[in-house]
Amino acid sequence: MNGPAGEPPPVPHRGAARDSGGPVDDPIRRLARLIRRSRHMVAFTGAGASTESGLPDFRSSQGLWNRWPQRMASLEFMEQHFDEFTEFYRARIAALADVEPNRVHRVLAAWEAAGLLKAVITQNVDGLHQRAGSRRVLALHGDLQTCRCHRCGRVYPSETFVVDPHCLCGGRLRPNVVLFGEFLPAGTWAEAEAEAARCDLMLVVGSSLEVYPAAALPEMVARRSALDGAALVIINRDPTPLDHLAALVIRETAGEVLVAVDRELARPAADSPGGPPQSLPEG
Ligand SMILES: [Zn+2]
Repeated sequence: MNGPAGEPPPVPHRGAARDSGGPVDDPIRRLARLIRRSRHMVAFTGAGASTESGLPDFRSSQGLWNRWPQRMASLEFMEQHFDEFTEFYRARIAALADVEPNRVHRVLAAWEAAGLLKAVITQNVDGLHQRAGSRRVLALHGDLQTCRCHRCGRVYPSETFVVDPHCLCGGRLRPNVVLFGEFLPAGTWAEAEAEAARCDLMLVVGSSLEVYPAAALPEMVARRSALDGAALVIINRDPTPLDHLAALVIRETAGEVLVAVDRELARPAADSPGGPPQSLPEG
């Protein structure tokens, strides 16, 4: 069986050394094969998933924490410097009004709709996965769409926080995000942990995997690999502390990788001969 026009013929996946793609193409095909074989894939996303939308990440040289002290997102800072805390979050909420989901969010939403992806676990608070159409989104660190009263817990839209960060009860409003010094939302964490325990493929997209407890989830998947073959794949521009545990590491821009893998998935599977020929999708 010949591959689509312009492509080398498909090769059995066990002849991995034989893959003839370039340095970028090769891991794309490997990832596409892992996705085709998986029965329960989940994604784990971080700031790098949103950088193409124009949002800054946190830890790179251009990141948020190089321009703002990290302690501004802490419980202690909120309690002691409420006005500055409010300014910081007003700026972050305002920045969200001008951004749109990017190809990372769109590909993941499309994969969920196609039944390939079961859940997105995200460290991001920007709500862009939800806006792109992802349905099962476990936002480990909350999101900036709403705020709540720090005293009585009443929930308001984030616009209320921008106008006047006070509750009817007189308490202070704060964004519905997890601040440094706070616990992760227990229900969301339990669901995410269950996904990490049952998935056979976890795709880390744009996370430096430096923030715990969130990074414990991909770590859990990597540790399972010796027991039950669960695979961790890391797509991130920079090295991460879990790279040595991953089945595959791709140090490229997340959007480029996901779009390329999505195209590869649209081709006839190299390791399932007999599949019907398909035409290549445009662009
Ligand atoms: Zn209140």
